Amino acid sequence: MFDVVIIGAGASGLVSAIVSARRGKKVLLLEKNSKVGKKLLATGNGRCNITNQKPIPNRFYSKNRYFIEQVLDGYNYQSIKNFFKSIGLELIEAKEGKVFPMSLQASSVVEILQAECKELGVEICCECEVIKIANKKNIYMIEHSQGKVTSSSLIIATGHISAPSLGGVDDGVEFAKSFGHKVVDSFPSLVQLTSPMKNLKQLSGVKVDSRVSCGEIQQHGDVLFTSYGISGLAILDISRVVVQKLRKTKTVELEIDLMPKISHEQLFSLMKKSLQNSSSKPMALWLQGFINKKLISPILDPLKLENSTVGSITSNKNNQLKQIVERIKKLNFTVNGSKGYKGAEVATGGVDTKEINPKTMESKRLKNLYFTGEVLDVDGDRGGFNLHFAWVCGIRAGESI
Ligand SMILES: Cc1cc2nc3c(=O)[nH]c(=O)nc-3n(C[C@H](O)[C@H](O)[C@H](O)COP(=O)(O)OP(=O)(O)OC[C@H]3O[C@@H](n4cnc5c(N)ncnc54)[C@H](O)[C@@H]3O)c2cc1C
Repeated sequence: MFDVVIIGAGASGLVSAIVSARRGKKVLLLEKNSKVGKKLLATGNGRCNITNQKPIPNRFYSKNRYFIEQVLDGYNYQSIKNFFKSIGLELIEAKEGKVFPMSLQASSVVEILQAECKELGVEICCECEVIKIANKKNIYMIEHSQGKVTSSSLIIATGHISAPSLGGVDDGVEFAKSFGHKVVDSFPSLVQLTSPMKNLKQLSGVKVDSRVSCGEIQQHGDVLFTSYGISGLAILDISRVVVQKLRKTKTVELEIDLMPKISHEQLFSLMKKSLQNSSSKPMALWLQGFINKKLISPILDPLKLENSTVGSITSNKNNQLKQIVERIKKLNFTVNGSKGYKGAEVATGGVDTKEINPKTMESKRLKNLYFTGEVLDVDGDRGGFNLHFAWVCGIRAGESI
């Protein structure tokens, strides 16, 4: 019999295994994939944005915000840095508070975590998919694809349903339900958005530094137009709000400022000056002096100016120029869905945190049952927040067993 069985050798599972084993526990880590940390390897485009220098509670979301504050309390960036230092992984700080392994390789994070587990005598069983769990007289009975095991404590570190190709499943949520836990509905977040708009192919591949607005919410960053809709960092960042709205309405309008670093007035005066020397030029050619060629049609089409010459604007005074500036600063883009869990970095929702002790990650329903990481109803912004939460949960669970 094991002291601790951990289901899932991802971010929080590997850390909880190390912390439990350091405290002398006999630990078994069960992973359904053929190797540990498959999702971790894909994080941060293979560089692993491991944490953030400012893991403040308002960068996380949950039905129960108090839980997040309690979990993060006392576990800041420095605590995570110290943990990784203790296993031999140095971290470096980058812009926007993002933190990466010094090697800039997610593989070094996985390999060093795995090596530490082995060093501490943690048994790791890959291709071991847990199918059923039960608790009889305070003993956990775990049935997996290669046999059965028992343990005094059980950590459910199965992650959530995002990125199924990397192992994302909702097994953890189902296990939680089987023990009577409540679960908060999930939807994909940090995800690309689809659009019903015509002629998307024409725009496909254009990447622009933009400010995207959805109602009151704004995000600044790259926007990438694609054949299915829209992607890029600013879109991933705003996707949580959009997908939430799309649960209530069929379409959502985004406003994209294609030149966020220049004001309406500045752009107007820049363009006006340029008009004076270009009156014989076709409008589309003139606009190429300002903006990506592929974006010209969506800007001019609704204004019915595509076949005009610049001369027609100059004679039309300032009005049409104002409209062009307005389209550049506020391009409407309709979205009607997302690329779903397949494209999502995280799933929102999960095990209701009201039934979890935020200091130990232990279930309030069943003794010695723990939940860590994304399986819980907590998700964070892009920028290292999701992994920060996973590491902290892993440390807390490991320390309290
Ligand atoms: C493409 C991508 C990039 C990302 N980049 C970043 C980033 O740079 N920074 C950041 O902070 N976050 C990032 N994230 C989010 C982050 O990876 C997750 O939030 C984090 O890995 C969650 O950790 P976890 O321990 O909860 O679960 P995971 O790391 O997902 O691990 C769960 C493990 O449990 C296993 N498992 C599930 N069910 C079973 C079962 N029944 N039996 C056995 N094993 C099971 C799974 O196979 C998996 O290996 C990214 C996500 C994706 C998809």
